[in-house]
Amino acid sequence: LQETLMTIVTLDIHKFPCLNDNYGYLVHEAWSGQTAAIDTPDAEKYLAEADRMGWTISHILNTHWHPDHAGGNLRIKEHTGCTIYGPAGEAGKIPGIDVALSEGDTVELGRATAQILDVPGHTIGHIAYHFPEQATAFVGDAVFALGCGRVFEGTMDMMWNSLSKLKSLPPETLLYCAHEYTQANARFAVTVDPDNAALTDYARWIDERRAEGLPTVPTRLDKELATNPFLRADDPALQAAMGHAGDAVATFAEIRTRKDRF
Ligand code: ZN
Ligand code: FE
Repeated sequence: LQETLMTIVTLDIHKFPCLNDNYGYLVHEAWSGQTAAIDTPDAEKYLAEADRMGWTISHILNTHWHPDHAGGNLRIKEHTGCTIYGPAGEAGKIPGIDVALSEGDTVELGRATAQILDVPGHTIGHIAYHFPEQATAFVGDAVFALGCGRVFEGTMDMMWNSLSKLKSLPPETLLYCAHEYTQANARFAVTVDPDNAALTDYARWIDERRAEGLPTVPTRLDKELATNPFLRADDPALQAAMGHAGDAVATFAEIRTRKDRF
């Protein structure tokens, strides 16, 4: 007689708007009581929301150094004594960092484990936190619903490689992006991929959601694979339409440049 003990570890994810268009996320692992702040756009808002949930922030998990992601670090640490995790590639710019992370590292949040992915391009050290058992990834400004981060510090080639890495996660993975940019992204996406029926359906759904003031994030990777032009730069039809048949990096660069000017 063989007995199998299965432990299903769930994460409670509390989402709330911050600043103009950021999302704040608090991730709670009930067995341990530990709670991670995913980035820190607004310290007071994070502390108030944690209070409201009856949670105490034990971890800050930074995706990159931009102030709308790490600006609240010191205030939250001062208030809670939490441990700050962030990208090794830009550790010098992460206020209060305790643990520097890069590809292949893991972070324990109670019984849950995040695996670190290096996804540079938007910034040079940008990381994502993937919780494979919960099919959940916190992707910061690397990828958005129907979009991706602007390529500020890295190269187009680097950003395409980062997006390719995210594309290879299990398709049911929920992507928790850092911004609600979806409606503007949709308006652009339909201009580069006008015959994509899945995209036009998605764009209609986005308009309905936003008209009711509802969020469009998180999104699911399989939906993005079918519709997000930045993830589809390896699609032959889109490559041909962009004038770069057979070249995913050039196609990605073309789409990114058009979006920057849109
Ligand atoms: Zn950013
Ligand atoms: Fe941001």
